[in-house]
Amino acid sequence: MAGNAVDRWSLRGTTALVTGGTKGIGYAIVEELAKLGAAVYTCSRNEAELRKCLQQWEAKNFKVTGSICDVSSAVEREKLMEKVKSEFDGKLNILVSNAGTGSMKPVMAVTLEEYKFVMGTNFDSAFHLCQLAHPLLKATGRGTIVFNSSIAGMVGIDNFSVYATTKGAMNQLTKNLACEWAKDNIRTNSVAPGFIKTPLIKEALENEAYVAAETRRIPQGRLGEVEDVAPLVAFLCLPASSFVNGQVVVVDGGRIVNANI
Ligand code: NAP
Repeated sequence: MAGNAVDRWSLRGTTALVTGGTKGIGYAIVEELAKLGAAVYTCSRNEAELRKCLQQWEAKNFKVTGSICDVSSAVEREKLMEKVKSEFDGKLNILVSNAGTGSMKPVMAVTLEEYKFVMGTNFDSAFHLCQLAHPLLKATGRGTIVFNSSIAGMVGIDNFSVYATTKGAMNQLTKNLACEWAKDNIRTNSVAPGFIKTPLIKEALENEAYVAAETRRIPQGRLGEVEDVAPLVAFLCLPASSFVNGQVVVVDGGRIVNANI
């Protein structure tokens, strides 16, 4: 563990890859890590949006670079990691596998294409990016992986089956990597957010009855903001959490421990 309090709460001199950094939770994670001093690389599929975000970060004096990548494609994942390797001289301290998508349908309505799309975007990408990042993480002597999972990977919620399966798999992978890669000084953890106000759940947010029902289930009486999640991700990347490994940390205002409804 880093020697003094300032070092324990700083990411100065570290490098990070955050997938899906142009919107929602990923955008907030990029900013949080950059504010703590990390040099961050990010990616998304929309070039114009990525360019706009990079300009915003440059204006704030954050060290953020990035490129286009569809993380559901193995070939693009390989190209992404080559770029990260060259950007950071072969050393990556932090991998945040954040990019994700959903398809909210009853099990019997899910097509094979939808299944493959959600599995590929959420889980295949997380698994493969860890494999690709392993030598870069190991090279730093102090690597951390954080998956953006979900409470949907821990409890049953109607119409979330495929999405939930990707997150449940991610939660298990967290534990396996935590055991297998600790010897390489790589820690692995997940965050499991509840309902967070982002473009991903735009449709649900426009449904007043749904929002009211969800809000009632949450003891803190509100849906989450991206700023509720990003600091937790940052904590799991900081030396301050140096003995936290293999955990899935829930950030949901108390929703899944609430047995009152
Ligand atoms: P969001 O607002 O839709 O943002 C997703 C980000 O990922 C965007 O930057 C998007 O940019 C990028 N992205 C999506 N698919 C991609 C792909 N195939 N390749 C590369 N980039 C891709 O979503 P969010 O709500 O912030 O969700 C982020 C993560 O949090 C996801 O893993 C999600 O499952 C998890 N989560 C969200 C909630 C919630 O309530 N919002 C709750 C629990 C967990 P482009 O579209 O331009 O590619």
